[in-house]
Amino acid sequence: MAGYQKQLAGIGFGYDALTAKGYNKINGVCFTVDIHPNTKDCIVSAACKPADETAVFSMRQSIQQFAAERKKIIKNAAFDGKQIIIVWYMADINPDIAKYVTDSVNFVSYCIGQFGCVPCCSSCGNEGSAGICVIENNIAALCENCFYHTQSQLAGNMYRENQITVNYPLGVLGSVLGGLGGAVLWIITSLLGKISMIAGLFAGMFGYLGFKKFGKKMTLSGLIISLIVSFVFLLAGMYFAIGVDLFNALKEYEFTFSEAFELIPVYLTDPDATGEIIYNHIFGFLSFIVGAVICIAGYYNDKKVKNRMIKLM
Ligand SMILES: [Zn+2]
Repeated sequence: MAGYQKQLAGIGFGYDALTAKGYNKINGVCFTVDIHPNTKDCIVSAACKPADETAVFSMRQSIQQFAAERKKIIKNAAFDGKQIIIVWYMADINPDIAKYVTDSVNFVSYCIGQFGCVPCCSSCGNEGSAGICVIENNIAALCENCFYHTQSQLAGNMYRENQITVNYPLGVLGSVLGGLGGAVLWIITSLLGKISMIAGLFAGMFGYLGFKKFGKKMTLSGLIISLIVSFVFLLAGMYFAIGVDLFNALKEYEFTFSEAFELIPVYLTDPDATGEIIYNHIFGFLSFIVGAVICIAGYYNDKKVKNRMIKLM
């Protein structure tokens, strides 16, 4: 992320680290840069429109041509009536964000000269100067009116959300269901003879997601409860998978399923087996920790971004 910030700073763009969005105002037009490493999209938007409506058609044709000439690196480009949006495709591991943004800025400058584009608000489309602001996870170019309207909406949301209380019983139920899902995933991958990092990772996250979904809201206690529940279920899943393994190994000696399970404690203390048990489970535990850390980071990031609305420029 720091790399994007540096690239954008190099071409005079600001960067909001919390939402990972770039921004700048050039000749009164608000530019925003929205980078999505997971989908490899780099979306550059410019809030402007032709002062004369009749120029819209030829401008749209020009945008299509601009995109067609860069087929390999532009996924899509359009004018939605309030802003020119260009979706760049970041094919490289180290994408040249600065180049995408500079090319976009140059193209918008061309549109200003050729089609008489003027700055406008990306929400209501009204002509005139707009300011760039972040609203939770989004960035937008808003006129004064839209800014205050959104701000009061957000305050209303904040008020309503504070009225909602966490439903702990349902939240716990959600984390139990999530934890169960993680445990089942572990058992299935273990039965397939695989040591699955993915199963551990999901086990670390399912409980949290379950709590959030069912409990309506996430709190610090909810986070701790859901992680503990997930961990207990992962342990149970691992225990069960070992039991199944033992049963498969012993069934030719006419052991029943429950007899095999009764042998698990003995098996776990057998020094010959310990090494293998540790090896088979260590990656599960490590990936569980990774999943848990993702949830914890997500929880704190949500908290920071939630109901945040600030004017960047
Ligand atoms: Zn507006």
